[in-house]
Amino acid sequence: MRKKMIAGNWKMNYTLSQTEEFLLEIKDRISVDDVDVVICPSFVSLYLASNILDGTNIHLGAQNVFYEEKGAYTGEVSAPMLVSAFVDYCIVGHSERRTMFNETNEVVNKKIKILLENTIKPILCVGESLEERESKKLFDIISNQLNESLKDIDEKNVADNIIIAYEPIWAIGTGKTATLEQAEEMCKFIRDQIEKKYSKKVAQSVRILYGGSVNTKNASEIINSDNIDGALVGGASLKNDFVSIVNC
Ligand code: PEP
Repeated sequence: MRKKMIAGNWKMNYTLSQTEEFLLEIKDRISVDDVDVVICPSFVSLYLASNILDGTNIHLGAQNVFYEEKGAYTGEVSAPMLVSAFVDYCIVGHSERRTMFNETNEVVNKKIKILLENTIKPILCVGESLEERESKKLFDIISNQLNESLKDIDEKNVADNIIIAYEPIWAIGTGKTATLEQAEEMCKFIRDQIEKKYSKKVAQSVRILYGGSVNTKNASEIINSDNIDGALVGGASLKNDFVSIVNC
């Protein structure tokens, strides 16, 4: 039985004082046993958030990492630095990073490897643009993202440590959610690809989230669909709505 997960991607929002105020307001209401709740604030807020969340069941996630351990990489943040801020999860391959910061599947693969070496669980985002959905190439694109991002990653890590988030780009921050059928179809396709690449056991263990304009109205049906194990929530994770999404 896969444990459900709700992860909140705060993106580039909330200063330190706003982080403190918001987390103090919601933390007791989202600290639950039966769902893994992950909050992903900015790098600057991570350590403060880890102190506020200490003693709760809420996990801390980062939104990015660099793939080298240390060195002359001005402006970058390493996996050991994230470990030192008590980070458990890290988003990689988010479409905003792929499109605005040229994050390729090859880079995503390197980031996944460094995270796993440092015992941080990657949340690997895959998804297609509207044009790609409308072309006949939709499934090839997702399968290629999976294959290249997971190159040389062993099955134990895929089963136990990697979370995959299906995030259609056209549904991110647009208010347009994929229909339940579209989300379930793609999450099932992803699970089938994992079965082909690894095994049925791995496919049945890996958690696959949906992300793209999840809100209090649509969360329940999405999260409770057969092949969807939870949600990666952007905009709604910055509001009290996040509490309702976790509780549904
Ligand atoms: C996201 O950024 O991962 C996301 C899903 O955003 P939103 O929920 O705002 O569409």
